[in-house]
Amino acid sequence: MTDEETYEALTQFDNAEPTLWPNVSPEQWNDYRWQLKNRVSSLAALESKMKLCAEERAGVLLAGHKLAMSITPHFFQLIDRNDPDCPIRQQVIPRMEEGWTAPDEMADPCGEDSHMPVPGLVHRYPDRVLFLVTDRCASYCRYCTRSRVVSGVGDQQLEIQWEAAFQYLEKHQEVRDVLLSGGDPLLLSDDKLDRILTRLRAIPHIQFVRIGSRIPIFLPQRITPELCTMLQKHHPLFVSIHSNHPRELTTEVRDALGRLANAGIPLGNQSVLLRGINDQPNIQRALVHKLLMCRVRPYYLYQCDLINGSSHLRTSVATGLDIIEKLRGHTTGYGIPQYVIDGPGGGGKIPLNPEYILNRQPGRVMLRNYENAVFEYPDPQPMPNHVRDELLSQTNQLNTTHVG
Ligand SMILES: *Cc1c(COP(=O)(O)O)cnc(C)c1O
Repeated sequence: MTDEETYEALTQFDNAEPTLWPNVSPEQWNDYRWQLKNRVSSLAALESKMKLCAEERAGVLLAGHKLAMSITPHFFQLIDRNDPDCPIRQQVIPRMEEGWTAPDEMADPCGEDSHMPVPGLVHRYPDRVLFLVTDRCASYCRYCTRSRVVSGVGDQQLEIQWEAAFQYLEKHQEVRDVLLSGGDPLLLSDDKLDRILTRLRAIPHIQFVRIGSRIPIFLPQRITPELCTMLQKHHPLFVSIHSNHPRELTTEVRDALGRLANAGIPLGNQSVLLRGINDQPNIQRALVHKLLMCRVRPYYLYQCDLINGSSHLRTSVATGLDIIEKLRGHTTGYGIPQYVIDGPGGGGKIPLNPEYILNRQPGRVMLRNYENAVFEYPDPQPMPNHVRDELLSQTNQLNTTHVG
């Protein structure tokens, strides 16, 4: 296929048909509880649905005491079972390579544990906090930056001290933005989420609340009208979703995102740059165009964190910069995410940009545009004194004539 044909195919919206669950009724399939109950979480369940390679088989066995495998039927249907390099497959089916800790890899690559004033609350930036409200997700991403605490099978447990966390937020008036994450907050019941949001909204200095969730992608059935009605009581509320590949954006996902958008919730996307999954300009272009069609604004593109066992999924910074360079100017500005690295060990998000300044001199910069044409932009100059005097004397005359 040519690049254009690939792009055409990738920007189509398909359904996730339950061909591997032939006896399921449409009511069951569209019920998020059925989806959760029927997740593919064991080697036997996985092998009853598809043929694994040796590396995957070993990976599934290893995952049992590191980061659990769990795949919703909806997401599972998007796997191309005949393609070992399928971008959906590689995100959720463990591989043996996860068992190797490469140089520089860490259990806590963003240094979160050392920035928790209260267990479950990461306060890294002056005015905003990350609030980890659950350790469970609908499915587990193999490159998860928080794999040390999510899924319930690793050596570390996520400890949440609810009352202490709320009291910290009430006391710290510098916190104006709370980001709910986990785990996936939308896995909590409507009631529990409502109670959390109500408590946060009762704190006068908290201006802004957002939820980070991959549920719209893994489990679009969870985005019920009832959930949306509850969420819209808590505005201003933003939701950041997590989509990495255009094939994840199915008609069911588009409808779920539409329900959130119709509830007045601004939507952003955070994706992770992953080798062999989405590290090609053409795939990113299709992804961001489809996100815009789903009313989602691409927000961040993350360089993959140095999480233990991720080297097979990580790619170079040069690859990421090249992708951004091939988007900027070439397509809608709303579609271009900010490429960032979360500083290893705990530096926060650091923006990475292709270089457009060719030369900087006192008073002027030399620039290039997306087509490599060169431009010069001078700094402003003060108005010369003789012009100032001239203008003053002219306007003085005007003034006297008119008043007179
Ligand atoms: C990403 C992150 C935030 C939010 O950062 P924004 O750039 O405002 O989206 C806040 N706290 C922590 C610890 C984070 O990792």
